[in-house]
Amino acid sequence: MDKIKLKAYGKINLGLDVLRKREDGYHDLDMIMQTVDVYDDIVISKTDHSEKIKVITDMMVLSNEKENLAYMAAKMLMDEFDIHQGIEIYIHKRIPIAGGMAGGSADCAAVLKGINTMFRLNLTMEQLMERGVRLGADVPYCILGGTAIARGIGEELTPLPAPPQCHVVIAKPPVSVSTAYVYGHIRPEQITKHPDIEGMAEAIKKGDIQQLSMLLYNVMEDVTVPEYPIIRDIKNVMLEGGALNSIMSGSGPTVFGLFESKEKAEDTIRQLKDKKYTEQLYLTKFV
Ligand code: ATP
Repeated sequence: MDKIKLKAYGKINLGLDVLRKREDGYHDLDMIMQTVDVYDDIVISKTDHSEKIKVITDMMVLSNEKENLAYMAAKMLMDEFDIHQGIEIYIHKRIPIAGGMAGGSADCAAVLKGINTMFRLNLTMEQLMERGVRLGADVPYCILGGTAIARGIGEELTPLPAPPQCHVVIAKPPVSVSTAYVYGHIRPEQITKHPDIEGMAEAIKKGDIQQLSMLLYNVMEDVTVPEYPIIRDIKNVMLEGGALNSIMSGSGPTVFGLFESKEKAEDTIRQLKDKKYTEQLYLTKFV
């Protein structure tokens, strides 16, 4: 196989709780992850240059290829399995960068799967996940995909059935929020309201989108909303536009809203454009 094409899907968090800071500096989390149909296209091709991994993307901010998680994923597996073939990884980005949708982890997961297939390494999904977590806490989930509870630093995964379909409006405001900043400012012992992750899992199992929507909650908004009020403004437009509910995804600043009506979802996108809150808007679905 000389070439492989992959879709690297982004995620949203239907629920996100930070339980405690650990001795190792990471935080213990309790989350519900959901893949959405917003994806980066990835093409891995063999080249004539031996021992060279080249990454090409259409995003200038990702120009330092050695810091790209896609590069790191390929290098990790090719070093371990002593593969000297040159490869080129082309990435067409659609997932907002540094948005709380795990775009880097998604690319990393896709490349791990792609290299595994291309060079017939025969690693199981679990073996890919064990390697993936060394590159990022969200990578094992991105390898699994779908709907899942994620605990620990995000690597302890329990798959859930898919929730009922609805229309998902995603809006990435034009501000950068570093994940490190949010973790640096969150005080788990001071969080007074926590999401009901078990209740959300029950609503998903029952296929109850109303109940699920009522329970959407992300504790990281306590840190990001005071700093970036546009997050609250976008949530308000989603709710006024008829969303069942709307919250921020991950460490932000991306906001999503769940809609039963496609017309209301489309109208909300128009409202967000008219108010000039952001141009980075997606109308999508759960995967
Ligand atoms: P998470 O939801 O896991 O916190 P995120 O969506 O906030 O992640 P990413 O888009 O994954 O953030 O990117 C975080 C940083 O990772 C970026 O600022 C970028 O420098 C780096 N990065 C490395 N490789 C990639 C990649 N292939 N795509 C996007 N970002 C990448």
